Amino acid sequence: MTPELSREIRLRSRPEGTPSQADFTTATVSLEAPGPGEVQVRNDWMSVDPYMRGRMRDQPSYVPPFKLGEALQGGAVGTVIRSNHPDLEPGDTVVSMLGWREAFNAPAASLSKVDGARLPPEAYLGVAGLPGLTAYVGLLQAAEIKPGDVVFVSAAAGAVGSAACQIARITGATVIGSAGGPEKCAYLKEIGVDQVIDYKAVPDLRQAVAEAAPDGIDAYFDNVGGAHLEAALAVAKPFARFALCGMISGYNEAGAGPANLFLAVGKRLRLQGFIVSDRFDMMPGFIEEMSAWIGSGRVTWRQTVETGIEQAPSAFIKLFTGENLGKMLVRLN
Ligand code: NDP
Repeated sequence: MTPELSREIRLRSRPEGTPSQADFTTATVSLEAPGPGEVQVRNDWMSVDPYMRGRMRDQPSYVPPFKLGEALQGGAVGTVIRSNHPDLEPGDTVVSMLGWREAFNAPAASLSKVDGARLPPEAYLGVAGLPGLTAYVGLLQAAEIKPGDVVFVSAAAGAVGSAACQIARITGATVIGSAGGPEKCAYLKEIGVDQVIDYKAVPDLRQAVAEAAPDGIDAYFDNVGGAHLEAALAVAKPFARFALCGMISGYNEAGAGPANLFLAVGKRLRLQGFIVSDRFDMMPGFIEEMSAWIGSGRVTWRQTVETGIEQAPSAFIKLFTGENLGKMLVRLN
């Protein structure tokens, strides 16, 4: 068989501030036949994710930094095209962390086979994948939400945020969601968010959250940091629980910390950071619950799709300007 050609996106330079196209480069590699125990996969969909910005810095973290000149890594769903392993056969749908390339060889054991007929394959990169699991872990484990809670979610119209809003409502919480712009806010109303804040349109975010939650919030799911975290600290009830999921407002340039962090002392707040990969043990239970919620229509999702691997850098950069509604994806085939 002739070698398979695959284009891939490499990190050319470590971004200063907001990433630009010049920080990325495209290369074409030729894939030989898969080795013993390996399969060859052609990616159909790939994910771009805000946390990847942290891996572009040459700093130790919970995941190693990306290496310059090498293909980036990220979530992907693909189709097995050749197999040297009995557990996978051509046509199977698999999830991997080998996105940002069109095709790859990998040991079968490093891939997760998913039921491409149960849900659209790309849902395994969004609501039924890591973003959905992140929302589930953050709400249930970090914030320990319960029926009757008032829960505030920032970046609420994004992949993690929209899943968090819907799971919180299913749990019996009242949900306040913040997002930028009228289209995103209309979507939040569609999915049942009780109080919607367009943070780009309100003169004072802290006041807007206080008006949405006159008795205060019991829990905050933080995707943004900065002014959103400050507003949540101001409006938190005593003993409120904060799930610190991400702080995208500070990923490109270090912002100032919340000026009112001292409130955490007097209000006896619990600020709990978490990383979804610490709780992969919750994936099977999550998939069962999420599939049932999707099946019954209690959870829906939106996605923003760019087409062609060459669009991956711009899709990634658009996360920081909020140009995605729901999960940002790149379709490869
Ligand atoms: P989203 O789909 O939410 O996309 C990012 C969104 O962030 C944008 O659409 C934009 O929405 C908002 N945003 C960007 N810049 C700013 C800013 N300066 N101020 C306010 N909002 C901003 O991405 P994900 O759902 O993939 O990720 C959401 C968060 O979850 C991120 O912080 C990410 O790092 C974190 N995360 C954490 C994980 C963990 O294990 N802890 C795992 C996965 C994700 P808008 O238009 O509303 O501003």
